[in-house]
Amino acid sequence: MFKLPQLPYLKTELVPLFNEEQMTFHYEKHHKAYIDNLNKFAETDPSLNEKSLEEITLNSTGGVFNNAAQSWNHTFFWFGITPAGKGGQPSPDLMAAITRDFGTMDELKAKFVDGGMKTFGSGWIWLCTDAAGKLSLVSTSNAAVPFTGNGPTPLLVADVWEHAYYVDYRNLRMKYLETFWSQVNWNFVSENFATKKVRNLTTAMK
Ligand code: MN
Repeated sequence: MFKLPQLPYLKTELVPLFNEEQMTFHYEKHHKAYIDNLNKFAETDPSLNEKSLEEITLNSTGGVFNNAAQSWNHTFFWFGITPAGKGGQPSPDLMAAITRDFGTMDELKAKFVDGGMKTFGSGWIWLCTDAAGKLSLVSTSNAAVPFTGNGPTPLLVADVWEHAYYVDYRNLRMKYLETFWSQVNWNFVSENFATKKVRNLTTAMK
């Protein structure tokens, strides 16, 4: 059985990025439903309980993949944001990579927001690294993750499904993405850049 991870902040602490109602729907309804659905698959295929969420995401298709990946994506999303003013700074190594690959932090932000705006339909915009530390932005559709098929390792993600922002922002996806950027947890992003490995989220969800 997988469980909804505990958030590293209170649902009320993310303003102005998200108000409590947005958090209640997104975390307690949408995210929980993906985990409940995955656990239902595990009732008919108990081998899923022996595997990590990362292994299931890498090696499944169809409904199992959709619900495992969405369970993983949302936990990664929650851990990548933080209450206003608590986000810290990129590590020196990460900042050097941002400068090399994007020019400036403002350029990275502009390209991240633009990537989120151009993600058609439901999906995710990711900041990723390859094994050598080269950064890239990757847009995925529906439940897809960047790291299948030897793809790059996620450092940060913004959920651009409409359910992620419609309570607070209605149709203003750009305003959502710009506010998201102001509450990124740079300590989390820097840790992911230091390891260059797909984050183990299973331990937070067992
Ligand atoms: Mn979502």
